[in-house]
Parts: sequence; structure tokens; C-alpha cells
Amino acid sequence: MSRVVVVGAGVGGLAAAARLAADGHEVVVLEQADAVGGKLGTEVVDGFVFDTGPSLVTMPWVLEELFAATGAPLADVLELRRLAVACRYTFPDGTVLDLPGDLADVPAALDAALGPGRGAQWTAFLGRARAVWDVTRGPFLESPISARGMLRLSRRLGDVATVAPWRSLRGLGARYLEDPRLRLLLDRYATYTGSDPRAAPAALATVPWAEQAWGSWYVPGGLGRIAEVLRARVEELGGEVRTGARVVEVLVADGRAAGVRLADGTTLDADVVVANADAAEVYGHLLPGRRAARARRSIARATPSLAGFVLLLALDDPPADQPHHQVLFAEDYDEEFDAVFGRRGPARPVERPTVYVSAPDDPAVVPGPETGAWFVLVNAPRHDPDGSRGAGVDWDAPGLAEAYADRLLDLMAERGLDVRDRVRHRTVLTPADLERRTSTPGGSIYGTSSNGARAAFLRPANRSPVPGLYLVGGSAHPGGGLPLVMLSARIVADLVRRDDASGQPR
Ligand SMILES: Cc1cc2nc3c(=O)[nH]c(=O)nc-3n(C[C@H](O)[C@H](O)[C@H](O)COP(=O)(O)OP(=O)(O)OC[C@H]3O[C@@H](n4cnc5c(N)ncnc54)[C@H](O)[C@@H]3O)c2cc1C
Repeated sequence: MSRVVVVGAGVGGLAAAARLAADGHEVVVLEQADAVGGKLGTEVVDGFVFDTGPSLVTMPWVLEELFAATGAPLADVLELRRLAVACRYTFPDGTVLDLPGDLADVPAALDAALGPGRGAQWTAFLGRARAVWDVTRGPFLESPISARGMLRLSRRLGDVATVAPWRSLRGLGARYLEDPRLRLLLDRYATYTGSDPRAAPAALATVPWAEQAWGSWYVPGGLGRIAEVLRARVEELGGEVRTGARVVEVLVADGRAAGVRLADGTTLDADVVVANADAAEVYGHLLPGRRAARARRSIARATPSLAGFVLLLALDDPPADQPHHQVLFAEDYDEEFDAVFGRRGPARPVERPTVYVSAPDDPAVVPGPETGAWFVLVNAPRHDPDGSRGAGVDWDAPGLAEAYADRLLDLMAERGLDVRDRVRHRTVLTPADLERRTSTPGGSIYGTSSNGARAAFLRPANRSPVPGLYLVGGSAHPGGGLPLVMLSARIVADLVRRDDASGQPR
């Protein structure tokens, strides 16, 4: 059995650590921050408990499978609660759609909110999306990316026609969806991978399919509980989790990963290193020399994913009857993507962005009755203070963040959700804050974006060019979002097992 060091205690790192510990390896997780969870962060202020990152769990079977594979079932340690309304969408024309959390109810809800025939349009689209899912799930989402695997997929002509790699997500939507509001709804899903629907591949149709097929879920007490139970699972299996431990170098000896060097100068030997830090960090800073040059070039060729601007609002007497999740759509979605990705002018904070609000109805996250712990998120350009890293904004510019937060509260009020005189206190988290908290370059939530037909190939693979070094998490294959990050951990654990069994260099 091997000595394994995992660099980073995000969901990807903890999930990989749990699987490798369950396989009998000696596992140490090193996390630079004071808490585990990474982007799945928690902020507690005066009895208000805020999730600072994810607010929505999809594909719950991935989480369940992880716990089942590493010991006691998930249900023993964590409650997952299915939402009856997945999300309330308010469109620019004022139409309101409560999207049901059960797929069977979706067509009727679309007909009722948007007009007859809309349910059938969406169902036809989801039929195609499901076919794409069936084709890509095994060879892509659940396998290490490899040129051979992609070649195999590309030889099956029917599969290629289904996935339509030449088509954008928006292009695919246009073939099925006549109602502009349904197209807007579809565009939104591109942002779940940090991408622009005009440039993201049609294969992202799998995102709404997966969300609606398996529903939208919440964790009472906040999603941050997932990180807590993952850490506990690693420790129950004999693994060690150290916080406040920043890795500054992955050590290589005789051409293999041999351990890590920490910021305090100490070193830790290992047979296997699993890097959960952002791939751009791993190849840009942690891995010395020429070994990482090619991977670095691939990352540099891809468009970084979008970032997010977050408001955590502690509210007194919050407006009644709010859904758990709601989206107030931008009047001009294209302008939003242009601003975020720096098209038609430099990258800029979006003037009138789509606003996402999560308002959990959960006594465990508030200090008492008549209070609310709200999470507000809008898409934002990445943090790029000196313009050296491509399209971005200096989010630390004096006054910018607070002024933008005020603007968002005004915008919410304009769109019918006025909480301005109910805010007991607020916390603003910019892309620069995410960068500082989680060492995520520019605060790009998902590493590289899916913009462009070649994006999946430019995304860093789970097996690095250095034997014994593996990459896990949202900036590596198969991508970001909690379920994919956990699938990434499964792929890495399988690779370690396979490389062990074959006696191959890892
Ligand atoms: C605002 C926001 C909203 C989101 N909403 C959702 C949602 O609703 N649903 C969903 O599924 N997903 C959502 N996501 C995405 C999801 O949070 C991420 O895809 C996922 O948590 C990433 O996990 P990870 O393990 O890949 O990386 P991270 O969470 O970034 O973990 C990496 C860890 O490595 C540590 N680290 C980095 N460098 C070092 C080093 N040198 N030494 C030691 N430690 C290091 C970091 O501190 C961090 O803890 C959201 C993300 C954000 C930011």
C-alpha cells in the first residue's frame, strides 16, 4: 500500500482521500486554509449560517455512491432533502415559472407558465439531451480522458451525430426551442460550467438533463455539512487531514512524484501525490521545470471560466413565500456574457446581470424566526488586477465591490425583490476573495471554461505527465460542480488502483 499525499481539502481532495483510504492507502490531506471544503465554504455571522459556494445539490447518487463505497451509507450521516420547486425563474417580460423538482411535472408547468406547446418543446430537447448523456456518461464523464477514448467515440458516427461537437449549446437549443424564454433557460445551464452558451458545446445539454432527471436537493444545516461529513469519513478510515498546511512544491525524484514541500520548509515523502489545487496552480507553480510545460500551454490556450460576485445577506423579516432558489433574468443575456468574457470591449462587471438568489427555509441556518440567510450570486469577470492574465477586472479597486453590491440590491428591487431595508448585515465576496480563500487563480470557479469545441481536450487530465502525480477536482477532467468533482475523485482512485495493479509507473 502506498503513502498518499492529497494537496487540498476541497470536495475533490476529500472524496479522493476517502476512496484511497478505503483502498487501504496511508493518506494525508494538506489544506492551506484553516477549514476544509474549499469553494464549498461556510460563513457564520451572528447565528446566520451561509453557504459561500454551492447552494444546489444535483445528481445525488454520486454522493450516495461515494459514501457507500467508503463505509456507512450517506443516509447515516447526512440528510438530503429534495426540493418540490427546483427554481423560480422570472423572465425579462415578467413571466414567472416555478420549475417543478420532479421531471414528470415539468411539461405541464411549462405549458401553464409560458403557453401551450412549451412543455412539448422542452421534452423534445430533453430527449436529445438524454441521448447525449447516454453516449457520453461512460466514456467521458466516468473515465479518464484519453486520446484513444475520444477516438473510439468519434468512430461511432451515430454517437458523433448525437453529441454534435460542431454545434454550440445555444445552436442546439435553437433547433428544439421556439420560445425565447426556453432558450434563455437553456443558456443559463452553460454558466454551470462557467461558460458562454454561444461558445459552449451542445454536449452541455446534459446539464439540464441531469438536474431535472434526478432533481434538486438541499442539505439541512447548509451544504457546508457535506465537507464536514467527508472529512469525518476520511478520518474514520485512518486518514489524516491537516489544515493551515500550504504546499509550495510537488517533489519529483527519478522522474516520479516523491512527495511535497510545505511553506514552512518541511517535506513529506509520498508514493502518490493527488493535487486538488487548481490545475493552473499545479502546473504554473507547484511542479517545477519543463515537465509541466505542455500542460501549462494547454491551460493557457483555453478560456478561463467565469467567476462569481456573491452577497451574503442577513435579513430581518425577509419577504414571505420565497422559493428556495430563484433566478431574475437579465434583460440582455448576451451583454452579460460579453461583459464577463471581455467581448465587445474589455471585461467589466455586468451592468444588469442575471441575479440568482438562494433563500433556504431552514431554521438551522438562522438565529431565530423572522430572519433569513440569503445568498445572492451573479456572474462576474475574473480578478485580474494588472490585466496580465487576460480578460478580467481589478475587484480590489477601492470602492468597486461595495458600490456593485449596492447596485445589485437596487436591481433586485427593480425586478420585484426589494430587501434593501431589511439587511441587518451583509458580506461581499468578490472573485478576488475566492482567489485568496481557495488559491483559485482569478477566482475562476471552474478552472478553464467549456468555451470552444476543443475545450474538453484542453482541460487537464487526471493523470499528470509525471508518474505518481494525479489531478482531482473542478479544474481537471471531467469538470466542475459537486457531482463532477466527485466523479473526478472516483476516476483518480481507479487510476491509482489500475496503475498499482499493472506495476506500471503511476
Ligand atoms: C459561488 C459558487 C457557487 C457554486 N454553486 C454550485 C452549486 O450550486 N452546485 C454545485 O454543484 N457546484 C457549485 N459550485 C462549484 C463547486 O463549488 C466546485 O466545483 C467544487 O466545490 C470544487 O471543488 P474542488 O475540490 O475541485 O476545488 P476547491 O473547492 O477549490 O478545493 C481546492 C482546495 O485546495 C486548497 N489548496 C489550493 N492550493 C493549495 C496548496 N498549495 N496547498 C494546500 N492546499 C491548497 C484550497 O484551499 C481548496 O480548499 C459553486 C462554486 C462557487 C464558487
